[in-house]
Amino acid sequence: MKAVHEIAKQYDIPVVIDSARFCENAWFIKQREKGYEDKSVKEIVKEMYQYGDMLTMSAKKDPMVNIGGLCCFRNDETLFNEVRIRCTPMEGFVTYGGLAGCDMEALAIGLEEGMDENFLSYRINQVTYLGEQLRKAGIPIQYPIGGHAVFVDAKLLLPHIPSDQFPAHALNNELYLEGVSEV
Ligand SMILES: *Cc1c(COP(=O)(O)O)cnc(C)c1O
Repeated sequence: MKAVHEIAKQYDIPVVIDSARFCENAWFIKQREKGYEDKSVKEIVKEMYQYGDMLTMSAKKDPMVNIGGLCCFRNDETLFNEVRIRCTPMEGFVTYGGLAGCDMEALAIGLEEGMDENFLSYRINQVTYLGEQLRKAGIPIQYPIGGHAVFVDAKLLLPHIPSDQFPAHALNNELYLEGVSEV
């Protein structure tokens, strides 16, 4: 992120941070990047956003809300006003963006709770566990395992199904049928 920020600054290109997964990204920085092991997720998040000029966020992900999101701008009032004008017909006035009060309240809390390290550890280790079990069973997955999903390589798992017959869809349908027959 530092390197991207440096290059962007050099060429006067604004950096937009896609923030749906900001907590788990910070978590992985803490786990994997030298010099960050003793920093809190919150400190890492703060540093991450020093390298961006604006952010978009689907808040249904790491902040765990039913609905909502954010667009934030640093030091660009002109752009903010342009976005504000478009926000009104598309989402609602900029003060609430089409959200009910209770949803904004949930978002305000979720932005903090999403960074809870006990919660992140529990959630991400659960995904790791699933991924490792699949690997042990010989299922090809994307590796290293990410934070919110295990990605199965359906093409590799089902080499007898050609691409134009959609191996990933076939796998999903088969898993669904398997699940239904268990009930
Ligand atoms: C889910 C996701 C989006 C899109 O958000 P929606 O609310 O589902 O449209 C964008 N970026 C990332 C990284 C996401 O995980």
